[in-house]
Amino acid sequence: MTRTFIALGGNLGPVEQNFQQAVSLLNQLPGSQVIQVSTTITSQPVGASSGNLFRNAVLNLETDLEPLELLKSLQEIEASFGRDRSVRWGPRPVDLDIILYDEQVISLPDLIIPHPACWYRRFVLIPMAEIAPDVIHPVKKLSFLELKEWFEKKELHIQFSGGENQLRTKLIKELETEFPKIKFNDIKQVGSKLSEAPVLIIWLGENENQELTFEDLPEVSRLDLSGHQEAEKQEELFERIVEVIQSVISA
Ligand code: AMP
Repeated sequence: MTRTFIALGGNLGPVEQNFQQAVSLLNQLPGSQVIQVSTTITSQPVGASSGNLFRNAVLNLETDLEPLELLKSLQEIEASFGRDRSVRWGPRPVDLDIILYDEQVISLPDLIIPHPACWYRRFVLIPMAEIAPDVIHPVKKLSFLELKEWFEKKELHIQFSGGENQLRTKLIKELETEFPKIKFNDIKQVGSKLSEAPVLIIWLGENENQELTFEDLPEVSRLDLSGHQEAEKQEELFERIVEVIQSVISA
């Protein structure tokens, strides 16, 4: 039997009831048993098209299924709730993701384990810290309790500048949800004065509607992340920013 952790999320229909139903379907998978289920928490949706608030939980599943068999079974369970995959990050009755499969590190076209976002998304870290505080993330080499705590530790100020206005607004909103202790500001004009000293300025690239350039920014701790403006690179940009935040916090 392999110890795995599965994240449950949903924001459509009777979510709690669907989670219970998902747990009983997981228990019916061959050679599989749900050992523990976390408390369900509420979180803000990621991305604009997601609809209502999300409910999230994680569970510990012991299973004889191989990783890809498990993924296929999870997708069948998701489909039984009638998910429409046409909208990325769209509303969904139940989303099931494999967070950990023992200590294995897997990188296949259809399956990445540990789940790439599990080390910084609060909706995974909070329930993981509840039911598996001492379980170690095999790539980050930190326990889920440590991962949850590092971003709750310090106050920090981060400013954004450059890039599309919409991208900055979206990023700041998403980061504020993820890092409640950190203050994020938007610098739009040359000479903008901010009441608090920034710790880090992130430049997202030139924008024809703005006169501001990278060189106009104060030279202290400015980081050039232009080149991530296109929609398909935004997940990568988010991850890069989170890595920078982590390195500043743990410095
Ligand atoms: P989602 O929209 O979150 O349900 O993403 C589903 C897609 O992510 C599927 O096409 C999976 O092949 C892929 N995927 C990659 N890694 C994982 C993982 N660890 N758990 C679940 N789905 C994964």
